[in-house]
Amino acid sequence: MIKKNNAPIRRDNTTKTNATGKTGVKNKRKSPKKPFVKRQDPKVTPIAEGNIRIIPLGGVEEVGQNMTVVEYGDDILVFDCGFQFVSEETPGIDYIIPNTKYLEQNKHKIRALIITHGHLDHIAAIPYIIHEIGNPPIYAGNIATLLIKKRMTEFPHLAEIDIKTVKPKEKLRLGKLGIKFFEVAHSIPDSMGVSVETPHGNIVISGDYKLEHVNEVPTQKEYDNWGEIGKDNNLLFISDSTNAEMQGFSIPEKYIQSNIEEIIKNASGRLIIGAFASQFHRLISIIEMAEKYNKKVVLEGRSIKTNLEIAKIAGLLIPKEGTLIQAKDMNQFPPDRILVLATGAQGEEFAALMRMANKKHKFIQLNKRDTVVLSSSVVPGNEISVRKLMDNLYRHDLKIIHYKVSDIHSGGHGRQGELMWAAKMVGAKYFMPSYGNHSMLKVHAQAAKENGIVKEENIVVPDNGSIIEIQEKGTVMKIIKEKAPSNVIMVDGFSIGDMQEVVIRDRQTLAQDGIFVVIATIDLKTGKLRKSPDIISRGFVYLRESQEMLQQSRNLVKKTVEDDAKGMKPIDFDIIKKDITDNIGRFLLKKTDKRPIVIPVVLGV
Ligand SMILES: [Zn+2]
Repeated sequence: MIKKNNAPIRRDNTTKTNATGKTGVKNKRKSPKKPFVKRQDPKVTPIAEGNIRIIPLGGVEEVGQNMTVVEYGDDILVFDCGFQFVSEETPGIDYIIPNTKYLEQNKHKIRALIITHGHLDHIAAIPYIIHEIGNPPIYAGNIATLLIKKRMTEFPHLAEIDIKTVKPKEKLRLGKLGIKFFEVAHSIPDSMGVSVETPHGNIVISGDYKLEHVNEVPTQKEYDNWGEIGKDNNLLFISDSTNAEMQGFSIPEKYIQSNIEEIIKNASGRLIIGAFASQFHRLISIIEMAEKYNKKVVLEGRSIKTNLEIAKIAGLLIPKEGTLIQAKDMNQFPPDRILVLATGAQGEEFAALMRMANKKHKFIQLNKRDTVVLSSSVVPGNEISVRKLMDNLYRHDLKIIHYKVSDIHSGGHGRQGELMWAAKMVGAKYFMPSYGNHSMLKVHAQAAKENGIVKEENIVVPDNGSIIEIQEKGTVMKIIKEKAPSNVIMVDGFSIGDMQEVVIRDRQTLAQDGIFVVIATIDLKTGKLRKSPDIISRGFVYLRESQEMLQQSRNLVKKTVEDDAKGMKPIDFDIIKKDITDNIGRFLLKKTDKRPIVIPVVLGV
């Protein structure tokens, strides 16, 4: 899905093209009649002295494309730079990235891009954005640094980035702002929260987090880490809302891993474990457990291989020689010594698990002695594809263990009990739920209010692009009327832009109502049609059963063309085409209640 080895090409009009690719602009509609107007986003009023601005540019109306801006005086700090995987609402689009117009307009003030952890929804938009915002230095933890560097190798045309590795407890001075990092528990190592010191108090950004706990009592380490941050004069807490709708505490990862260990220990045949590549800790522990029980491990799927390679480089995984084997060699070992660790537990069409399930895998043929463990939850929206995967797996009469029948998955995000504990520890005056859909943010905000953590008037629930200002020396917080540009920016193959609404709408229309092409040939001398118009359609109605409607359409095209052409000298093809589109579109809607895309092709002879 990810197109590699090509520098991104900007498709919008207000930023310069930053690459020399030939593929360039595609699908953009040209209008010969209207002059091309350059779109200029209005500039937001500059920040007043003494105020603090917080601008979530992404990640507060969706899970993904996280980016938060903190601005004070002459300094801007940017936190995270993620993308969002896309849905059925944006057919053909690879992913969505934050709108950075505000940052592009204030490039000179940006002191750094700070990364909380290495997940794609926090780092993956860097290649598309970093040069647009002036290539500021990037600060990130060790694993995130390695993953960012790896991702940049997929964009060899881009200039070097300036990345520096930081650790928890480290402090930096960036412009007039001080920041410090603190360790948080998440599903990837080196995850950190960040506290930004301003003269009016600190802004604490949680990053993604959960808590390490025993029976809902956080561990001493959590008390130490969050307690240290809680000592400061904290003005605002910006906190992860991904799992705010779930009550209580999340299942500890250690418990999940010990359940998986039981399964590995007792497997009498081959074991195929499907997992998220983002779950670093779990992937590493599965390999360690495989070694403990004398099993060979086959890695299947690019993202799992990449992430474990990074874990090896970071020294977090040191597999014994011979533990990792190739799929083609697995038949040299008895089945009970084989563990396959694979991507695709969400039913992704081309991922390893689905290929095995569909008998399309070159080396792994499933049989009824196999056990498949789906160590992942079903991401909302993927229910149908996961069901399809399970159906196809069960066709092999094997055994499936999934998270509904056994505790073999827990996400990386804290549930409400954990979120409230952390908010209380931070003890900030103001609260802003972040990272999640609006509904998740609202539930998080309500919980903070109902638990007495912060007063209702001190909570703000923003949209992407909302500008939150803390004014009057920290005594007032509000969302101001102006907004940073926030229209959706999409990555579509090699190009990036915010002007693709038309393309997306066409794709949706094509999918729903199909296409209807009319080909008419006009005799330029007489203005009459040379022959009855040709009609081609796809995805609209079954033409063989619609002969009458087709004939009526042909008559309507003929009448439209000949009425128009009467008295036209020379014949204006644009007017004729527009009238065909309008008349046929209206006629088909009346007849079928559908709006296919009507494409008129008019030839003159
Ligand atoms: Zn994460």
